[in-house]
Amino acid sequence: MNDKLKSVLLELVNKKLRRYINNLLDLQRIIDDKNHSETHNGKKQNHETDVKRINIEITQINIEIEKLENMIKNIYKDEFGLCIQCGKSISFQRLILNPALKTCFECSI
Ligand SMILES: [Zn+2]
Repeated sequence: MNDKLKSVLLELVNKKLRRYINNLLDLQRIIDDKNHSETHNGKKQNHETDVKRINIEITQINIEIEKLENMIKNIYKDEFGLCIQCGKSISFQRLILNPALKTCFECSI
């Protein structure tokens, strides 16, 4: 994969990272609001399930962020964009959809 395509991917990854970080901030704000409102109406049961659900979401977002950060670390290595199973190039279209992909279409099915 040439450097021009890599910079397109990097730009995309940076956008995704920014979106994830905004999501994290939003979720944190929701938790803060809930902690605050809880002291007023004491709906503890609902509050706990909501917070649990939000924490799962936060964990998932952090996993995605880690994948993208790893992708950024590896993007200028020669093996970037090659399937880890068969060694063929992963199509650019696939990487655009998910820059953290490590396998080609054939190996992923
Ligand atoms: Zn493959």
